[in-house]
Amino acid sequence: MSRCNLPFASWGWPEFAAALCAFARGKVRCGTDIGELERQLGRLLGESNLFALDSGRTALSIGLEGLAKLRSGRLDVIIPAYICPAVVNAIESAGLRPVFGEVGSDLNLSLDSARKLIGSNTLAILVAHMYGCPADIAEFEKLTNEADIFLIDDAAQVVGESVNERQLGTFGDFGLLSFAQSKSMVTGESGAGGILICSNPGLLPIVLERIKSLEPAQSRGKALVAFVWNYLLAPYTSRATYYWQRRIRPSPRSITPARIANLDAGIALCQLESLVFRRNERVQILDSYAKHLSAIDQDIQFPQYAPDRYLARAMVLLPSGSDVEACRQLLRTRSIETRRSYPAFSEDNDPPACASDLAGRLLEVPACSTMSDADVIRVCRCLKNILQGDKFL
Ligand SMILES: *Cc1c(COP(=O)(O)O)cnc(C)c1O
Repeated sequence: MSRCNLPFASWGWPEFAAALCAFARGKVRCGTDIGELERQLGRLLGESNLFALDSGRTALSIGLEGLAKLRSGRLDVIIPAYICPAVVNAIESAGLRPVFGEVGSDLNLSLDSARKLIGSNTLAILVAHMYGCPADIAEFEKLTNEADIFLIDDAAQVVGESVNERQLGTFGDFGLLSFAQSKSMVTGESGAGGILICSNPGLLPIVLERIKSLEPAQSRGKALVAFVWNYLLAPYTSRATYYWQRRIRPSPRSITPARIANLDAGIALCQLESLVFRRNERVQILDSYAKHLSAIDQDIQFPQYAPDRYLARAMVLLPSGSDVEACRQLLRTRSIETRRSYPAFSEDNDPPACASDLAGRLLEVPACSTMSDADVIRVCRCLKNILQGDKFL
């Protein structure tokens, strides 16, 4: 029985070779790969004002601080109630207030809900493309232009995908990408890399001034070793689950903003090189899940699926009332690793209904490039049998 693992990162020899090369040449913190990464990504996204930083969070904090200066006194940032916790932390750390909007069945912020939340204290709306599934960002751009508020295009989980022939991350006033584990380009654990894309010319001087003061990230060698141990070797070390089992709201982690290290930029260049290939591999597995899930069990849904759509994670939606945790335990005994979703956020322990319902029923299933069609069928069958209460698989 082959193991089915979660795709935290897909690295080949080039990534390891790039890392070794950075150490051998003494170019771990500074070097020419940083500028090269900015140039290549700039070309892909069609943007010239693009800055390689140490994380998506740093990009978000710097952009937010800039927006707050342009429109001082406004503190509210409307975000989806279903979102990566790092976003909530970055907003609060910037001294701003997250306002949680409802999400649709695609897990993205609902336009109607966001529109209703706009008030005189609204600074910006942050729209994320959850797990890579594109949000209706062009409509949000119209809305924020009409309401005269800022728009943040959070493309942390996806690189190189477009809507209306415009790249995700390039809409609105600024956008961001992340190279943390489980994103579409991975250089290491959160803190290994991220990109700030500044589209608002008024914001640019503030952002430039702030970035000029940053040093490249430190202690990256140690972080690389930890990442390889915790994530790339997770099937053997069984480490990667620790973070995701904490389903409580994490305490705000302090951010020390930095530029990307040359080591991580070199790895990012390798990931960029293989992006299209890895995308196609992923799309095939997602197609396979969509096909077999609907054939095996109509009650298990795959809400973000669409043909030829890249998804950073394959999130399936279990039927109402399913014991998701028990299901995970049983799958683990069959060597199938799964992960719960983010929790739904709210100011008052009363998250929007749809976000809260989805967060409770979503389960990430393995979608590694090494999985065959037969592996996918096995995962779907096991899920079905477990949900039907058959413990004697
Ligand atoms: C991961 C993520 C971030 C933060 O990126 P880091 O590099 O981990 O700081 C921001 N937004 C979304 C939607 C994310 O998934």
